[in-house]
Amino acid sequence: MQTKLAVQFRKNRRTSHAFERLKTCKKCGGYSVLFDNVCKQCGSRDKFIPVTEYASAMNRIMPWAEAFGAIALVLLAVASAGTLQHLAAAVIGGAAFLFLFFLLRKRYKPYADTYRLHRLLIDHTPAIWRGLRADLQEAVQDMDAAKPKEAYEKLREIGHFLRGEHVKVRKIDCLGRFFIRKDMELELEEIVPASFRQDFVLYLWEAVKVNKRLVRQSVLDYVVAYRYEIAAMEHGKDILTLVAGAALRMKAYVQRYPHFIVDYLDELPRERFHRLCKLMASTPAADRGRLYERCKELAKTRYGFDPEFQGLF
Ligand SMILES: [Zn+2]
Repeated sequence: MQTKLAVQFRKNRRTSHAFERLKTCKKCGGYSVLFDNVCKQCGSRDKFIPVTEYASAMNRIMPWAEAFGAIALVLLAVASAGTLQHLAAAVIGGAAFLFLFFLLRKRYKPYADTYRLHRLLIDHTPAIWRGLRADLQEAVQDMDAAKPKEAYEKLREIGHFLRGEHVKVRKIDCLGRFFIRKDMELELEEIVPASFRQDFVLYLWEAVKVNKRLVRQSVLDYVVAYRYEIAAMEHGKDILTLVAGAALRMKAYVQRYPHFIVDYLDELPRERFHRLCKLMASTPAADRGRLYERCKELAKTRYGFDPEFQGLF
């Protein structure tokens, strides 16, 4: 068995959109989402700028180019006027056109800026894709070089764009190498794999022990789908009980997974069971099912003497 590592992750950046994490090389147009300031494609140092900065520069340049284009069009119409009447029409029409052009451009500037950014991202998709693949290759090399912390930090960045199984499985592999602590910024929902994986379940166990809030719907769907495989694992029942207890955090989960929760009632710690009983007590009579009945029964037989359980049902 491999020795677990005590690690401190690099601080995770917060962005509103994933594309804000992209940076592009001013020299070769290559892309990366990692922290290194050396471009893997051209070898240049300190040439990266955030893609948002690149788009802002485009937004400063492009309106000028468009304005020159519009003015040139009007001048062309004026220059090609053969008679005085045509000249007058070109001058009046051109002035009206330029007035409208600048008016509309001012009004729709935010939309035009957003449109240019979207266009840029679409046009640069092949370069972004090449950059992400190179970043992924770097993370894989870190894993091969027994540097799981460095590999995981890179995978975490890449995972904002590549959400496939190949990235998830590598993240799970790295996370399984660390001591999981409460102060860590952990992910769980993001790495739920497509099939049963014992290494994921073991990580899930460690992660939920320190942070119950990581249990969300996709995690519960996974656990419920593979509950028999999990039950067959060493500590399988502890893991399932822990997840069932964590599901009680949200009333919606209790309503969605009553058939799962009811099987772990006997093992739930008193505090979790009390929370469940409080949730059950407010269930309208029409919605009461087996979970309600079992809670009521267990509250009576096991905690009948406990003042906190008095009068709940
Ligand atoms: Zn470059």
